[in-house]
Amino acid sequence: MSKLNRPRPSTSPVTRAVRAGLGADSTHRAVMPPIHLSTNFFFDAPGVCGTYDYTRTANPTRDLAAETIAELEGGCGAVVTSSGMSAIAVATRLLSAGDLLLAPRDCYGGSYRLFSAESNRGTYRVRFISPWDPESLELARQLRPRMIWIETPSNPHLRITDIAAWAAVARDIGAICVADNTFLSPVNQRPLEFGADLVVHSTTKFLNGHSDVVGGTVVAADEDLLEEIAWWTNAMGVSGAPFDSYLTLRGMRTLHARSRVHEANALRIVDLLDRSDIVTRVHHPSLPNHPGHDIARRQQTGWGSLVSFELRGARVAVDAFVDGIEHFALAESLGGVESLVTHPWTMTHASMDEPARLAAGIGEGLLRLSVGIEASEDLEADLNRALARAQAAAGATRGAAARTAREAAAAVTAQ
Ligand SMILES: *Cc1c(COP(=O)(O)O)cnc(C)c1O
Repeated sequence: MSKLNRPRPSTSPVTRAVRAGLGADSTHRAVMPPIHLSTNFFFDAPGVCGTYDYTRTANPTRDLAAETIAELEGGCGAVVTSSGMSAIAVATRLLSAGDLLLAPRDCYGGSYRLFSAESNRGTYRVRFISPWDPESLELARQLRPRMIWIETPSNPHLRITDIAAWAAVARDIGAICVADNTFLSPVNQRPLEFGADLVVHSTTKFLNGHSDVVGGTVVAADEDLLEEIAWWTNAMGVSGAPFDSYLTLRGMRTLHARSRVHEANALRIVDLLDRSDIVTRVHHPSLPNHPGHDIARRQQTGWGSLVSFELRGARVAVDAFVDGIEHFALAESLGGVESLVTHPWTMTHASMDEPARLAAGIGEGLLRLSVGIEASEDLEADLNRALARAQAAAGATRGAAARTAREAAAAVTAQ
């Protein structure tokens, strides 16, 4: 746990992230803060120690990472944990037996698995709902949950949940409102400003941003919650390793700069996909026809770089698309500098049975991209080639007809 000793409030979060901990080393006057791997710290006398005694409980390197994340999210403090899932486990420790957790039907698969398993063994109760459906707000008031879980945008359809509306319900009924902000990062969305009580992240994704650390965080809006989550993090022994914390801190120094390129590349790709004949649907909150567009415009400060889309021709088209794709690695995860393509049907959502996948709108033709920070012309050329392969494989009769019509129209205009 780390409490904030806030610098001048006028300093931009960009500057704070870049300069976190600079000049902290008074011994050698190193510009960048050192890494403290030591598991233990000297006591002055029996029972008398300084700020630190044992690294599971607190560590200077991890504290600096936690302070930086808390500043970015506008929280009063944070814990840094060993993974996103351990951060989620810590947040849900605030529930007691009998308490009800309301969680989105399409929440992260690992969260779904944990919530269901804990509910089955009676740790707490869980009910999965559709938070994007306005009627579910009224249902929540009636069910009187102890905790409301938000994940926006959701995976893989990037559905948007109205954070302010849900936080207001939570406040009215005395529930704790938790937002998983992994998909956007604090650069693009700060749920605490809309009334959430806790923010969790898989720092594995955008915050570290280089796909080389698994980690997590819980950020608290107030001191009481911070104390509780710090207590559980220490008691459960899920605090993040100093080396991982160091790399995550290093990653966060470039978070704002990376996010700009992620977003610029993603918007170009959304446009490219939206124009493609073989793409039947593009899911991205920047699109005016996206059902959550207006809410996203209100609560987000950026559109994010996760994009999903559906290919006509389903599996045949998908196989042709990913075959030989050069700049998008066929892999799970997201938020790193490198572009990725995921096939939810066989990868991230394979543990759901087939009817459940179909009910959730996850068909065989759905693909999700995590758009990286490579040169956009390389990504676009790669996608154009992959879409052409998919189109050839799918037969492309309708697309060809549409294209012929467009070309004919263009020829008429040119004359
Ligand atoms: C990856 C992810 C998690 C889990 O984080 P790990 O670091 O893999 O444990 C939780 N929520 C979301 C939205 C994620 O994308």
